[in-house]
Amino acid sequence: MRPLLQTRNLQAGYQGRAVVQGADIIVRPGEVVCLLGPNGAGKTTTLLTIAGELPPVDGLVMLSNVPTFTPMYQRVRDGGIALVTEERLVFTKMSTRDNLRIGGGSVEAALALFPELESRLSVRGGMLSGGEQQMLALARALSRKPALLLADELSLGLAPLIVDRLLSAVRDAADQQGTGALIVEQHARKALKYADRMYLMARGQILLELPAAEAIARLDEIEEAYLRGTAETEEDHIERKRRKDKKKQWRRQRVRERELTRLTGSLVSTRREEDDEFYFEKEQIRRDRAMRERRR
Ligand code: ATP
Repeated sequence: MRPLLQTRNLQAGYQGRAVVQGADIIVRPGEVVCLLGPNGAGKTTTLLTIAGELPPVDGLVMLSNVPTFTPMYQRVRDGGIALVTEERLVFTKMSTRDNLRIGGGSVEAALALFPELESRLSVRGGMLSGGEQQMLALARALSRKPALLLADELSLGLAPLIVDRLLSAVRDAADQQGTGALIVEQHARKALKYADRMYLMARGQILLELPAAEAIARLDEIEEAYLRGTAETEEDHIERKRRKDKKKQWRRQRVRERELTRLTGSLVSTRREEDDEFYFEKEQIRRDRAMRERRR
């Protein structure tokens, strides 16, 4: 079967410096593939590069056999890619139903994968539990029937039952919709239970590729050799990720502030926060108009 995703000698990293060295990864339609490895191995960097969020330092990302260079929003829009991270991207003030609608897929398709969300449709995203929020984020991504799902630590910090629930939905989407999935998971044993294959990455390199059943049979040995020694409890791991996310949010906020200062000409302290969206909308209308005029 033609691969949905193929990376060829992928070098991925930051500011031109590769932290992932020559990864060759394949995901076929309907296949769930785990990317396992210790902290700092380069798993997130690989996923973000496949998603188009980071440009590759070298090598190729091929989607359905076509080398792809477009940014993430285009891959999501045209290429049928969905990226779900541990961030549980849910609009807290919107109802569950509207959160599902905004994804562009059908609410029915989302409920078919997560029937438990039906009784929560009128509840605001912010009132859902952490597990429900992540179900919602995953349901929204899968309801668009993406060709390729990229999932980065979906189940971080969630209860074991929820971890199973999320992973089994990924399995169902693969079996029923033909979605191919590349998933990064801390819970190696659980993830392998729902997967077809796995890659093991350490220090930026793929060291091992095995069918999931064989990986489960050899998991003690694999954990001993590669996954232990990271000396990090799940709590520490979550705390470190939280700090990383905070930094990311802070950077986003700075970009936002710069853009607002450019649009309004006024300093942050003299602006009313509730007016910010107005300026962004005005700018969006201006850009849309300019684009239409250019097309004419
Ligand atoms: P983890 O479980 O820690 O997230 P990972 O396998 O996902 O592990 P990555 O987050 O991909 O690892 O990090 C791989 C390497 O890239 C690490 O050495 C990390 O320090 C470095 N790195 C991650 N993000 C950045 C960044 N924004 N700028 C520079 N280096 C980074």
